Amino acid sequence: MPSALTHAFVGGAISTFAPRRFRGVKLGVVLAVAAALPDLDVLAFRVGIPYAHPLGHRGLSHSLPFAFLFAIVLWTWLGRDAVRLSRASEGLFLVIFVACASHGFLDAFTDAGLGVGFFIPFSDVRYFFPWRPILTSPLSIGRFFSEDGALILRNEAVWVWIPVGLVVVLTVLARHMVHGSTPLHPMRAAQPNEQAKPSGSGPRG
Ligand SMILES: [Zn+2]
Repeated sequence: MPSALTHAFVGGAISTFAPRRFRGVKLGVVLAVAAALPDLDVLAFRVGIPYAHPLGHRGLSHSLPFAFLFAIVLWTWLGRDAVRLSRASEGLFLVIFVACASHGFLDAFTDAGLGVGFFIPFSDVRYFFPWRPILTSPLSIGRFFSEDGALILRNEAVWVWIPVGLVVVLTVLARHMVHGSTPLHPMRAAQPNEQAKPSGSGPRG
């Protein structure tokens, strides 16, 4: 696995793409935690469940069906004030699902361990992508800090943090440029016979 920090970074970064009304620190933190959470399955080792078991590491908790169900739970909570099946609400669900599923996809780019059971419980097959540039992080925190921690963080910075960070920065800048150019028409001088109108509540997000 990449380090928990990297999974959380990616989850938080994905919140940038949520519909505007849902964006914010809360969504970022929730998606960061949600993206890192699947690795709690390492507890399976403690109770004697082997790595290759469907409930083992990179098994069910890393699968797409699990991400889908987890996303529904989070969506029900985070989007409870939104009208269900509105476009913004659907967009929120998509972003939550992508954040939850991002964990398995990042793991499938790592260079060691077993593959990811993307389709558990429907298929127990484990998958890796053909290209695996990310170093696998040790499962124990002690080993992470004592052995190859610096090397792994440098590797993750190159393959995850910098590209993902760039995408987020460019997205925010592009958004700023697009929305930053719109005040021209609302700021035009009011015509003498123009009544003040209540601000519209058109579609947002
Ligand atoms: Zn993992």
